[in-house]
Amino acid sequence: MADRQLIEPDMDFVKKVVGFGGDTLKKCFQCATCSVVCKLSPEKNPFPRKEMIWASWGLKDRLVTDPDVWLCHQCNDCSIYCPRGAKPGDALAAIRNYSFMHYASPGFLGKALSQGRYLPLLLAFPIVLFLFLLGITGHLNIPEGEIVFKKFVPHTIVDPVFILVSILVFISIAVGVKRFWKGMMNGVHPSESRNLSLLDFVKSHVIPVLVDVFKHSKFKDCEENRPRYFAHLMIFYGFIALAIVTGIVFIGIYLLGLHEMLPLNQLNPIKLLANLGAVALFIGCTIVISNRLKAEEDKSRSTYLDWVFIIMVYLVAISGILTEVTRLLDVAVLAYPFYFVHLVLVFYLIAYLPFSKFAHFIYRTVALVYSSYSGREK
Ligand code: SF4
Ligand code: SF4
Repeated sequence: MADRQLIEPDMDFVKKVVGFGGDTLKKCFQCATCSVVCKLSPEKNPFPRKEMIWASWGLKDRLVTDPDVWLCHQCNDCSIYCPRGAKPGDALAAIRNYSFMHYASPGFLGKALSQGRYLPLLLAFPIVLFLFLLGITGHLNIPEGEIVFKKFVPHTIVDPVFILVSILVFISIAVGVKRFWKGMMNGVHPSESRNLSLLDFVKSHVIPVLVDVFKHSKFKDCEENRPRYFAHLMIFYGFIALAIVTGIVFIGIYLLGLHEMLPLNQLNPIKLLANLGAVALFIGCTIVISNRLKAEEDKSRSTYLDWVFIIMVYLVAISGILTEVTRLLDVAVLAYPFYFVHLVLVFYLIAYLPFSKFAHFIYRTVALVYSSYSGREK
């Protein structure tokens, strides 16, 4: 007979999961059709049936340490076949949203990021901060002559802000990931293979998972996910391209002392990569938004967290492209304000990363590594 287990329901957790889009939880009558349909679910202890019942019972501690929640790529194959009209794909997405908020700190930011009424305040913070810094350094005007953004916002003003914010975000994510990993190690699928050296662990589990992530292999496994595959790939590689460009520019300016390297010539390979990244982001976001609008009434429903993230990424791409176009057209009265808006939006994406869907990428990768390590992979 199975061991008896004490169930400690957390009703606040249930309320939050319902609020994040898991409002069909109670429709589930545990037929397990969803677990059979899911092409990503392992045969032993498959998901998402068990997550549906755990969530409706309020078993928060079990779910925030459950790697299976992150193995789901929200294709919604299961939601289509559910005989009760429950949406397990959406329920797992809601649990993921709860989970990364649970691991991120400081907690008050998570509350603000998850509610639309705080959005103006979250945007007002970088606006006021940048206006203040520009004001006290005498840069609150449209510079004369050739459009060069560092005349408007010098690196000495904006870079320390972004460096400090990036360090804080890194710490927040590192602490969250450590807690998540520890939770999984003691959680619902404990690992049986714990005696690996770090090198073997990286070779056997981290590198194969990263290859899969870069290839987006799991996205291709789901039938309903195929239209999303291309869009997600564009956004993913758009960000990678822009991260590489930012890294090169940072190294150029701060490690190699190339203070005059900006603005880059349009034919410079770094510039070409930046432009390709921006266009990839724009195309990927356009497809995601269009697919979401079409899907709203049928198999899946996007929540505030889904929308605010994709719209912010879209606005970052659009403001970046407009900044570049107006600079090339030499329209200073538009180029500098667009640049300012772009900086504010980039700040939003970076500073609030641990509380946004951006964090999915990190926690999903960690869960995939753990699944491989613990033998959970299908
Ligand atoms: S298919 Fe629907 S009713 Fe059946 S277990 Fe899954 S969520 Fe519940
Ligand atoms: S949404 Fe797709 S990946 Fe997620 S549980 Fe359902 S079938 Fe599996």
